[in-house]
Amino acid sequence: MSELLEGTPVALGGPRGFAVTRLLPAKGRRLVGAWCFLDAYGPVDLTATPGMRVAPHPHTGLQTVTWLLAGEVLHRDILGSVQEIRPGQLNLMTAGRGIAHSEETPAGHSPILHGVQLWVALPHAVRDMAPAFAHHDDLPVVTRDGLAVTVLMGSFEGVTSPAATHTPLIGAELSLDAGAEVDLPLDPAFEYALLTLDGAPTVDGTTLKPGPLLYAGDGRRSLRLTASSASRLLLLGGEPFAERLVMWWNFVARDHDEIVQMRADWADHTPRFGEVHGYDGPPLPAPPMPITRLVPRGRAR
Ligand code: MN
Repeated sequence: MSELLEGTPVALGGPRGFAVTRLLPAKGRRLVGAWCFLDAYGPVDLTATPGMRVAPHPHTGLQTVTWLLAGEVLHRDILGSVQEIRPGQLNLMTAGRGIAHSEETPAGHSPILHGVQLWVALPHAVRDMAPAFAHHDDLPVVTRDGLAVTVLMGSFEGVTSPAATHTPLIGAELSLDAGAEVDLPLDPAFEYALLTLDGAPTVDGTTLKPGPLLYAGDGRRSLRLTASSASRLLLLGGEPFAERLVMWWNFVARDHDEIVQMRADWADHTPRFGEVHGYDGPPLPAPPMPITRLVPRGRAR
């Protein structure tokens, strides 16, 4: 089974904000393994624009994963982390019970920005863990038959990323040479999705352009990849996430009342979220709670 998820345009920070395409959660498809959020942006020319300016905001119950194809993003968080990320590097922020951070285009940046922003839901046992931040600039790469696999999270062919994971999952960049024809080995216990980052790769007979997310389902032992021109894809996979979640604003929780408490803790500046230093602007206010109670949802429908 496979389905093409087209994604929704979203302006971060309001109508004149930074334009992204939200691919997860999608209608009827909320998670791929524990991957619960995917925004793709660019390639966009930042010349004569403010670039990315995402003011301090909180997270809970998840890890944020930042991966760039071009350009730079500067991350700051309440732990004192100040980290510029560049293509080929991974920023992994584990929110646990609570963290806050800002993301911005740094001074002296490259003209073009292109990347993805992902979240991984933390399972019940560790979702209240202490917050942490890690920057990985030496990720393992597996090459074969015109394919290079950079392992962002999890393992591929016995090679494991140093990034901390809490459920069985994989995140990888697949780089195909022009003319590549390769069978990508998969774990049949995982469900998978693929996003074209550039080029026009063919996945299981379907040629994909940058834009939509191909959900490829589970139970597969391999996937045929070909490319007539050099192409790159993002591969996401993992064991289907069994827990039901409430995702609201930047929080991942288990029920409505937890969200109410998280929102109040951010609005009241409690020590749960701390303070981000160095960002030139006020923190983001939480939106109002919806009138109806938030309902925990499973991975699909
Ligand atoms: Mn964030």
